[in-house]
Amino acid sequence: MKCFYCNKEVRWNNDFDTEDTNPESEHNIVSMYQCDNCQTWYEVYHDKKIKYNG
Ligand SMILES: [Zn+2]
Repeated sequence: MKCFYCNKEVRWNNDFDTEDTNPESEHNIVSMYQCDNCQTWYEVYHDKKIKYNG
């Protein structure tokens, strides 16, 4: 993944289960990335939870 700001490759930092870090999240997984060039920090929420009605 390229940094939005400086277009360098960002470094993957960690994945977390949102049940542990942010249970209110609509997604199951958050991935942390850092750009070593401009120090931008990315938190990418993915694997959206499926909502069941009733
Ligand atoms: Zn950058």
